[in-house]
Amino acid sequence: MTRIRHTTVGIIGGGPAGLLLARLLHRSGIDCVVLESRDRAYVEQRQRAGILEQGTVDVLRACGAGERMDREGLVHDGIELRYDRRAHRLDFPALTGGRRVMVYAQTEVVKDLIALQLDDGAPLLFGAQALAVEGADTDRPLVRYTHQGRQQTLTCDYVVGCDGFHGVARQAVPEHARRTYERSYPYSWLGVLADVPPSCDELVYAHSERGFALFSMRTPTVSRLYLQVPNGTDPADWPDDRIWDELDARAAIDAPWKLERGPLTAKAVLPMRSSVTEPMRYGRVLLAGDAAHIVPPTGAKGLNLAVADVTVLARALDRLHRTGSTESLDAYSDTCLRRVWRAEHFSYFMTTTLHTGPDQSPFDTRLQLSQLDRISTSPHAAAELAENYTGLPLK
Ligand SMILES: Cc1cc2nc3c(=O)[nH]c(=O)nc-3n(C[C@H](O)[C@H](O)[C@H](O)COP(=O)(O)OP(=O)(O)OC[C@H]3O[C@@H](n4cnc5c(N)ncnc54)[C@H](O)[C@@H]3O)c2cc1C
Repeated sequence: MTRIRHTTVGIIGGGPAGLLLARLLHRSGIDCVVLESRDRAYVEQRQRAGILEQGTVDVLRACGAGERMDREGLVHDGIELRYDRRAHRLDFPALTGGRRVMVYAQTEVVKDLIALQLDDGAPLLFGAQALAVEGADTDRPLVRYTHQGRQQTLTCDYVVGCDGFHGVARQAVPEHARRTYERSYPYSWLGVLADVPPSCDELVYAHSERGFALFSMRTPTVSRLYLQVPNGTDPADWPDDRIWDELDARAAIDAPWKLERGPLTAKAVLPMRSSVTEPMRYGRVLLAGDAAHIVPPTGAKGLNLAVADVTVLARALDRLHRTGSTESLDAYSDTCLRRVWRAEHFSYFMTTTLHTGPDQSPFDTRLQLSQLDRISTSPHAAAELAENYTGLPLK
């Protein structure tokens, strides 16, 4: 027999977007239920993003999820660009009037939010798979889902799809009312985790005719490293020594530098894609985070955009709850899409400036090097990159 329950805001997806939205609504006294298809251990261990913009850090602190982040996260004041055997550092606070970023893994953000939610928050149901959202254009949309082997129904005042790129919520927007803009890239990333202290104090973005490489970290003892690889690459074709040799070759500069090697603990290939679905609201169904848009990870924007969306949405729902005004909610899609397209452009810019495409001509490479040289020599060009990287202020 189908069980029916009601909530004010039904949230599909317990990733960063869904968990943070639940936290923010809880603080506004708005009841909600989070449906997450996977189990807790899976969600807490899924390796993904690791760079938090200043605005993301501020929101996590303000909602009570910043304590461990402030203790264990690594504050970074810049990044290094490598190209043409040279290294150039960008000083973020100097270029942006004081903005910086925090290295704190998405796995840890998710763990902190789950712990808060289970301790003092709205229901968070693991193993609850949403099957469909119905009645988006009615006053009482509903989510059909399965949980503990039973078909269930959640009726809601509003449904928020935070169910990522492969979720079901997007389908609640009829085809005639939705438009998707997409771009795929002719390369992927091979991402690895290594049990070795990072070889650099800040992230290094390396342009090379052999392909792009990124040197990042999760903690003072764990490195996170990426290599551009062809689409369809099988990680099994990349034994550990081949990965280390290639990272070394792509980061080479005419100055002393040593890449510390260590045991690799995870290896995965990530495709690179840009996609935006508009609008982000249809009737009483709203989309947030990867459910509405994805970016290639070169600009470190995916997680930060998800946080920005739900921050805007939580404020709009809070205003509705306190005053009865739907004005902010009505503006939700337009407000978010402005920021989304800026992040899409920045992610595309970083990706196409730093990667070497399979059909790239020597002319294209000279253009990339000229652009990198411009960033290294013009404070204006450097500030443009730094402002986008550290994140535009949340209005
Ligand atoms: C493999 C990978 C690596 C990435 N690496 C980086 C990176 O290095 N840097 C960066 O900035 N960004 C990275 N990203 C992007 C970043 O992690 C995402 O933008 C971020 O996770 C978005 O959060 P979200 O909550 O919107 O979506 P998600 O994190 O995808 O969360 C969606 C949640 O919904 C759940 N769900 C899905 N369908 C259903 C359903 N039908 N019913 C119930 N629950 C459902 C999923 O299990 C998941 O927990 C990466 C993304 C991926 C996929």
